[in-house]
Amino acid sequence: MLETSFVNDQPLKVLKKYFGYSSFRKNQHELISTILEGNDTVCIMPTGGGKSICYQVPAMIFKGITIVISPLISLMKDQVDTLNNSGIPAVYLNSTVSQRDQERISAGLKQGAYKLVYVAPERLESSSFIHFLQQLPIDFIAVDEAHCISQWGHDFRPSYAKIGQLIQQFSPRPVVAALTATATKQVAEDIEVGLKLNTPSSFISGYERENLALSVVKTGNKRKYLLDFIQRYSGESGIIYTATRKDVEQLHNYLEKNGISSATYHGGMSESARAENQENFIFDNEKIIIATNAFGMGIDKSNVRYVLHYQLPKSMEAYYQEAGRAGRDGENSDCVLLYTSKDVQTQKFLIEQSASNIDRKSHEYSKLQAMVDYCHTTKCLQKFIVNYFGDLANHECEKCSNCKSDLEEIDVTLEAQKIFSCIARMKERFGVTLVAQVLKGSNNKRIKELGLKQLTTYGLMKEKTEKEIAEIIQLFIAEGYLGLTTGQYPTVRLTERAVAVLKSGEKVFQKVKPVKKEEPIHSELF
Ligand code: ADP
Repeated sequence: MLETSFVNDQPLKVLKKYFGYSSFRKNQHELISTILEGNDTVCIMPTGGGKSICYQVPAMIFKGITIVISPLISLMKDQVDTLNNSGIPAVYLNSTVSQRDQERISAGLKQGAYKLVYVAPERLESSSFIHFLQQLPIDFIAVDEAHCISQWGHDFRPSYAKIGQLIQQFSPRPVVAALTATATKQVAEDIEVGLKLNTPSSFISGYERENLALSVVKTGNKRKYLLDFIQRYSGESGIIYTATRKDVEQLHNYLEKNGISSATYHGGMSESARAENQENFIFDNEKIIIATNAFGMGIDKSNVRYVLHYQLPKSMEAYYQEAGRAGRDGENSDCVLLYTSKDVQTQKFLIEQSASNIDRKSHEYSKLQAMVDYCHTTKCLQKFIVNYFGDLANHECEKCSNCKSDLEEIDVTLEAQKIFSCIARMKERFGVTLVAQVLKGSNNKRIKELGLKQLTTYGLMKEKTEKEIAEIIQLFIAEGYLGLTTGQYPTVRLTERAVAVLKSGEKVFQKVKPVKKEEPIHSELF
């Protein structure tokens, strides 16, 4: 533990001297002081929020050495070079370091030549390495990307499970800080338990990113949309995320045919090709990178003006982490998600194909459903996200596609009653498609076999297409009137809100496109 006056003054001096910044951002100073006072901390800050400073500044103030555990081997060199250039004696140890260099670094660490040592979690599986670390004066351990410890996070790394044990093996036990950009309550708990933290102080910066304009776009022609979009942003940096390696290659070829250059990045490429493409993007030799979710963790590129998701990601956590790579410099940036219901089927297929057990699959289905809800909600998208992460912020961003659309609120109680009573009559035993088919009055075999034609709600919404009805049902799911069971074939059920509409005549309002005078009201409803 360090003296209070020291704890108060020193961080700002270090920030100015080594990092050239004149003030701390929200939560940084409080967090650093807490660490310097000898307390464990959990830091949840959005991507681009400035987590690195939170451990690099204390590392320069503690007398001994700081270990930074980071899964990002490919970035360690850059991070350490940047620190060295600022006059901070830092070094890294991972599988890319030669035996000779390791010996040199080990000797340097013993002689006190370094303040920070970055290590990959895999190294902690070697008992001789741990034994070596135990001989060093370790004051502080920073666990970066700490969500990797949780099976319920979106990026589980088994080697993270060893860290808690490692921490206990030091005497005296160092102070520990866990840092991550996205942690739901469950993941935050896993971090605390897994790392065996001592009643940590938590610092949760709001999830809101004011400079990001979020949009969900439903277009029948994604390629054309992409082309127009990129052309509007010509000369600016952007990331395009796709669901599969094949999509990366296909879009790359498509853009090339249209005279637009881009880099690619996915797990099927060689390590050297990936590293080269990543460098080209980071140093602005390529403006656009098309990638799977293999790209991006820990990438600190400040001037990314847009992140476009060509397909739906598997969870809100994954989405916000990827989208959050836009606008790290605080400038206005766009995060666009292109949605089609077909992409939901692709994600479901991936869940089904995975080796996960039933519990895990059901968890993944519910994560996916939240993502689908995001695509259907008519509420503020920024608010939807921050609320999802448990942040109660209630104001609207005024810049997302929902806030900016010309939607107006109308009474849709009648539509809601038709749908809810149909679900009730179908005894909440069927999925969205079948409910939509019954309301449409479809004549297909399954409906006949199940005897659903006899229902009084059969054909009640025949003026709409089956797709339109399914969209409306999705909207009611997104807004919490309906729930879905988890699993590959989820069934729709009524929530208390829907029951209140049926039983107490509660009104339902929804934002819809304004009605043009000459058209009948119901064709414009949704
Ligand atoms: P992340 O939370 O994603 O790890 P970083 O630590 O990489 O974020 O910080 C994001 C950017 O913000 C970096 O370019 C960093 O130098 C900058 N930054 C961090 N703290 C401050 C500060 N107090 N003042 C100005 N810029 C800062």
